Amino acid sequence: MDSIRKMDSFNSGNATLINVSNKGATTLASSSSSTSSRYENQKRRDWNTFGQYLKNHRPPLSLSRCSGANVMEFLRYLDQFGKTKVHSPICPFYGHPNPPAPCPCPLRQAWGSLDALIGRLRAAFEENGGKPETNPFGARAVRLYLREVRDLQSKARGISYEKKKKRKRPLAQQIPTLSLPPPPPGAS
Ligand SMILES: [Zn+2]
Repeated sequence: MDSIRKMDSFNSGNATLINVSNKGATTLASSSSSTSSRYENQKRRDWNTFGQYLKNHRPPLSLSRCSGANVMEFLRYLDQFGKTKVHSPICPFYGHPNPPAPCPCPLRQAWGSLDALIGRLRAAFEENGGKPETNPFGARAVRLYLREVRDLQSKARGISYEKKKKRKRPLAQQIPTLSLPPPPPGAS
């Protein structure tokens, strides 16, 4: 795929600065644990999705010129595939966790999915040769944007995202995944 090749060339340009020898081994070894290989697979899929997004971007956008603003644009683009109802303040069900009837409010990507996605892409960026100080997924603007989405969805859906200590199910084990259309043929 073109997107992969582009990232490889980006990688080779910075190869002298980054020690990638250990990371390849870690990725191969991770198949022994199902949770971490699921995470690795998801991370690879997310990275491909983002590469595809860059490839289709108009005007053309290369990974090395990608900014936090482009990452936020990507997150907003993903919202069209979301399945989480986010009520607008004028909706009678604003703040209701379980609305008794349908309403025309938009569907979005859930904050938890976006937050986890950014974490995976941030890691993938550095594993693919990007420097931490230029990581667009770690940009302050992206962190602020995610916090804003969390507060907005928390109020609109009547759900608190504060971590509760007395949970019975281990939430850390779950990997929230995005709702996306099937990848184009030959994408992987
Ligand atoms: Zn609504």
